[in-house]
Amino acid sequence: MSPVSDLKPSTAATTPAGHGPGSAPVDLLRRLRARGAGDPVTHVERVPARAGVPAPWPSWAPAELRAAFARRGVVAPWQHQAEAATLAYEGGHVIVATGTASGKSLAYQLPALATLLADPRATVLYLAPTKALAADQLRAVAELELEGVRPACYDGDTPRAEREWIRRHSRFVLTNPDMLHHGILPGHAQWSGFLRRLAYVVIDECHTYRGVFGSHVAHVLRRLRRQCTRFGATPVFVLASATSGDPATAAGRLTGLPVTAVTEDTSPRGGVTFALWEPPLLPPPDSGSSPSVPAQATGDHDDLRQVRRSALRETADLLADTVAEGVRTLAFVRSRKGAEVVAANARRALDDAVPGLGDRVAAYRGGYLREERRELERALLHGDLLGLASTNALELGVDLVGLDAVLICGYPGTRASLWQQAGRAGRSGQEALAVLVARDDPLDTYLVHHPEAIFGAPVEATVLDPANPYVLAPQLACAAAEAPLTSADLALFGDGAKEAIDELVAAGALRQRPTGWYWRHRERPDVDLRGEGGAPVCVVESSTGRLLGTVDGGSSHFLLHPGAVYLHQGVSYVVDSLDLADGCALVHTEEPDWSTHARDVTDLSVVSVRSYVDAGPVGMFLGEVDVTSQVVSYQRRRIATGEVIDTRPLDLPTRELRTVAVWFTLSPQSLTAAGVQPSDVPGALHAAEHAAIGLLPLMATCDRWDIGGLSTALHPDTEAPTVFVYDGHPGGAGFAERAYGTASAWLRATRDAIAECGCETGCPSCVQSPKCGNGNNPLSKPDAIRVLDVVLANLPA
Ligand SMILES: [Zn+2]
Ligand SMILES: [Zn+2]
Repeated sequence: MSPVSDLKPSTAATTPAGHGPGSAPVDLLRRLRARGAGDPVTHVERVPARAGVPAPWPSWAPAELRAAFARRGVVAPWQHQAEAATLAYEGGHVIVATGTASGKSLAYQLPALATLLADPRATVLYLAPTKALAADQLRAVAELELEGVRPACYDGDTPRAEREWIRRHSRFVLTNPDMLHHGILPGHAQWSGFLRRLAYVVIDECHTYRGVFGSHVAHVLRRLRRQCTRFGATPVFVLASATSGDPATAAGRLTGLPVTAVTEDTSPRGGVTFALWEPPLLPPPDSGSSPSVPAQATGDHDDLRQVRRSALRETADLLADTVAEGVRTLAFVRSRKGAEVVAANARRALDDAVPGLGDRVAAYRGGYLREERRELERALLHGDLLGLASTNALELGVDLVGLDAVLICGYPGTRASLWQQAGRAGRSGQEALAVLVARDDPLDTYLVHHPEAIFGAPVEATVLDPANPYVLAPQLACAAAEAPLTSADLALFGDGAKEAIDELVAAGALRQRPTGWYWRHRERPDVDLRGEGGAPVCVVESSTGRLLGTVDGGSSHFLLHPGAVYLHQGVSYVVDSLDLADGCALVHTEEPDWSTHARDVTDLSVVSVRSYVDAGPVGMFLGEVDVTSQVVSYQRRRIATGEVIDTRPLDLPTRELRTVAVWFTLSPQSLTAAGVQPSDVPGALHAAEHAAIGLLPLMATCDRWDIGGLSTALHPDTEAPTVFVYDGHPGGAGFAERAYGTASAWLRATRDAIAECGCETGCPSCVQSPKCGNGNNPLSKPDAIRVLDVVLANLPA
């Protein structure tokens, strides 16, 4: 019998037989791509089925533990599981960064549980980003029924009455960083018995600890290490992550420890034919059949430029085509409204062909009840339903098997999500089809023309910046409140710790005594790990008074201005008012068929330079900047077509942001020599800036809200033509730093994305930006390529 990983058993064996194996997906793809004029497919990758590489149980794994795993169907580990487990068992800090469903949990369960069995006093602390994941893991560990382990979740939902028992008796405590921060570390005296015997710290799904949140978690872990040291424990850290670029570095930053990475995935997988699909460019508006409004009349220049057929329409057509062929298909769409548009269009197309056939397609909404989900699963399993358009709610909940094809409408932001969605396709032992339909956006466009960025070695890294002073200072205050800080702690908290402590002393938060720095107040510091500097804004449903959630202060002007369409867990709301003094936005449920896009005006000044590269006519810099911005208006756009309905003014105050930026300068002479006319320099830099921001998520897990940009033909601080790209969070979040560290690869990808786009003068797939403060004007696509060529020719690789 071949080994299986520690996943829930597949129910594939119970699914009815369908299309034959082998070439079915290839034939299906051939028919799909032959339907329109031109070939939208830019690449087909055959991801072959892979047999797993089993390894023997490590010799140190006790027979009792092997037997427990065997009872759950795990007869032997995969090689990567065994390798990571042995590294950790021997005392090394390790991160296992492999694909979705590759069985990462065995890699930490094995050494942790073996240690608990060998040493009846040892303890394990497990951290998950969500309570649900911790509850899943609790079930998995509890099912092993190991004597004396007594696993237990300890989070905000744990009844008071059980907490003391858990602290005293559980040896495998599952919690989250927030509880560690708010509950366990401040209560370290009560936890001293547990912490003194702590052998392992497990950090699951650690790629979710990125940006400012990740920087906070990095310091919570340092505070944990400090308490362990006080109690004489030196736990081993085992981390699990989605595949990413440079996981060892990310894990090292998160924990502050040297970490070894295990990245080779040796679990088995089914074969997939994966197609990259680029919707065609639409004819320019003046040659279209419908009379077009003169662009000047709307005051918007977007209308003048070419656009591609929307990914939603393209996905709807593909869904209709596959369903018409009897192929069980799941379409992933990023928004709930988008999923409904796709389902409705596919239904209409099918009913036009064969009345009644549209009933075989449905939309899946987040927030469905459990019974409704089961009914959908059943309908899909039995073939009553052939097509489903869904938000990524399915990534989390419904257990669907037996799908022949998965359509992914727009790159879901990370490779981990992409593979998770594609992984829904395929029955046991059969080939499946996955299609990524590119949206009109620089990153999607780049990816469909650069399959190596999807199928090759990952470059996208999880970044965080523990040196962010806006994170470091409050975390040091927390640490001081737990136990006075001493000079011996400075190295633990890293660069900038001494400066931050001095500022806390000057501000009256800490008092310096001969024995260290003491927290001066009775109350603990009020620090929210998920807050992003500035108080978060509460989103409240006006009719019920229900708190839907919070938005960090930095994004509130963009996302919660009056009239904004705000999506929360797949449900659409419209903002009635934003009260900045109260930190509260009132909303009501409404699903208009438009989306909203806020626009701002920005000013930037350089505060200091942290690092730079002098490359002749080109300079590349990393440093602190002050950004002043004001959200001044917003656009309404039709969801189905992307058409701009109108632009409406807003009256919001200006805001200041001290953050980290990467910027490059070019000499005016080098631009002239490259053929850029002086009058075209602003449009060239602006276009390069937009595309560079669009491509940064290729290098670091971030999205447009995490970064901003500014370009100018003459900046007073650099005295040269300059493009700035900055972190949109106070103090920086690591994105600009990653961009600086990978500058030539990042700008090479930016240049290629622009050059390879088939449009004439620039489109949303290359140099236009949906959140441009200047209405995408001026933009010069050919000159942006010249600018980037000058930078790349001079910059050391
Ligand atoms: Zn273009
Ligand atoms: Zn712009």
